[in-house]
Amino acid sequence: MDTTTAAPAPAEALPRHTRVLVIGAGFGGLGMAIKLDEQGEQDFLVIERGPDVGGTWRDNTYPGAACDVPSQLYSFSFAPNPEWSRSFSPQPEIQAYLERVASESEVLDRFRFDTSVEAATWDEEHRRWEVATSAGTVTADVVVSAAGALSDPKMPDIDGVEDFQGKVFHSARWDHSYDLAGKRVAVIGTGASAIQIVPEIAEQAAHLDVYQRTAPWVMPRRDRPYTRLERLAFRHVPGVQRAYRTAIYWGRETFVPAFTVNPRIAAPAKKAALGNIRKGISDPSLRARVTPTFEIGCKRILISNDWYPALDREDVELVTDAIEKITGNAVVTRDGVEREVDALVVATGFHTTDLPIAEKIIGRHGERLADQWAREGMSAYKGATTHGFPNLFFIVGPNTGLGHSSMVFMIESQIAYVLDALRTMDRQGIASVEPKPRAQEHWNRDIQRRMRRTVWAAGGCSSWYLDSHGRNVTLWPRATFTFRRLTRSFDVEKYDVTTPSPTTTKVARTA
Ligand SMILES: Cc1cc2nc3c(=O)[nH]c(=O)nc-3n(C[C@H](O)[C@H](O)[C@H](O)COP(=O)(O)OP(=O)(O)OC[C@H]3O[C@@H](n4cnc5c(N)ncnc54)[C@H](O)[C@@H]3O)c2cc1C
Repeated sequence: MDTTTAAPAPAEALPRHTRVLVIGAGFGGLGMAIKLDEQGEQDFLVIERGPDVGGTWRDNTYPGAACDVPSQLYSFSFAPNPEWSRSFSPQPEIQAYLERVASESEVLDRFRFDTSVEAATWDEEHRRWEVATSAGTVTADVVVSAAGALSDPKMPDIDGVEDFQGKVFHSARWDHSYDLAGKRVAVIGTGASAIQIVPEIAEQAAHLDVYQRTAPWVMPRRDRPYTRLERLAFRHVPGVQRAYRTAIYWGRETFVPAFTVNPRIAAPAKKAALGNIRKGISDPSLRARVTPTFEIGCKRILISNDWYPALDREDVELVTDAIEKITGNAVVTRDGVEREVDALVVATGFHTTDLPIAEKIIGRHGERLADQWAREGMSAYKGATTHGFPNLFFIVGPNTGLGHSSMVFMIESQIAYVLDALRTMDRQGIASVEPKPRAQEHWNRDIQRRMRRTVWAAGGCSSWYLDSHGRNVTLWPRATFTFRRLTRSFDVEKYDVTTPSPTTTKVARTA
């Protein structure tokens, strides 16, 4: 054999096979990688289309970007950060935190950045996934999709938007090279991102038009910098930071009954939000137009102290007439008014109920997950696994989203479930697991039954939580500690399993 030609593979080359392939390097993918490593599972690979870890926090760099769940809770339980500067950290701090956690965890050697997963196809004969990426193909026993539920920006479906000759960008793909100073700018949308962006760019733009379809509920933002003493205590006094986190967790959990049992419990929140309008806006007709007409909580409750004052500015116009079309240089509303603009900031959210990653996953029957979900509605067992798709796990899968607390809590619950699934597979010599259709059906029937009485279903609004059939396929309708309990261990009895060797395979599938 001529060894002189056998050059070592470049460090970045993909292996031919890995035990666990993780898609995405946000909180979900990074947390999964760290915990796999901790469990002694070294054979994994994280494929990330972006240039770094961070996901949401790498991509959403718009002016004013910050979390709306206090950072003490919106961070990994296993990596507390005594350096948070304030209760709701700005995006650069969260991104720096994730980068630091990643580099200190020593798992980055198994990450492949600037590489996207293009297709993942289940190979029933070999009981593994064949994953085509932009850097080549790799096989994997298990795929964990942590591709994010708010990671693919959704452009608005407005006539003529593609003909606009000025600058257009989505809030999640901010173009920092474009200077808004002195420009006429339109912001489309009044959701969580828009209410952070508008007060910031109102300061720069010559004029700002804000296009609102539905007025959101906006509560005061109880944000403040941490004092030096607090930060010293976080660093040096054992238990202080944990106590803050616990207090925030339980404080947030008290919102659950208002969402899921009786919206009247949210009366104090509603009062605070109405007070926020009165405090921020002097003009009675503007006050009326920003007052929501649906139950608080039906859409995501937003928090801001400067949203209403921004709308009250002379150089900001709130436009509530529906947009009819966009021309080369203007936005035209149904009442026929044409407002010229230089730049359009599109803050219209993400593909949440039609996850793009589902289009790339092809299961045991040769069907794309997106097609199965289009037919049956987006669903999974425990938000993690789906029948027809063996050894595929989701982090932040269907019905795991929250309107009140930290997604990192849900992410850590789901990571624990995957880890226990892997341990179970090892222990019992299992090659593949796939939830029994009955278990998945039962899980989802229970969720949809609980949904009926929630504020999201009965609160008189339509929101991005709902799919095209009006089903809430995004949110978890119970306490988060219940989700944690239900995902603590892998319930193999709810799964069809197969044993490893294709030649001696015993298939234990039941209909
Ligand atoms: C502006 C904004 C603010 C938010 N604030 C909060 C908050 O305060 N509190 C809260 O709890 N939640 C918040 N969220 C929700 C937030 O998305 C989650 O908390 C969390 O960051 C999700 O982490 P993730 O790893 O599941 O997904 P993401 O962070 O979205 O990461 C997914 C990763 O997968 C990658 N990816 C996707 N498809 C592919 C592919 N085909 N191939 C390779 N890589 C792929 C993406 O590039 C991305 O890096 C916010 C969301 C947004 C958009």
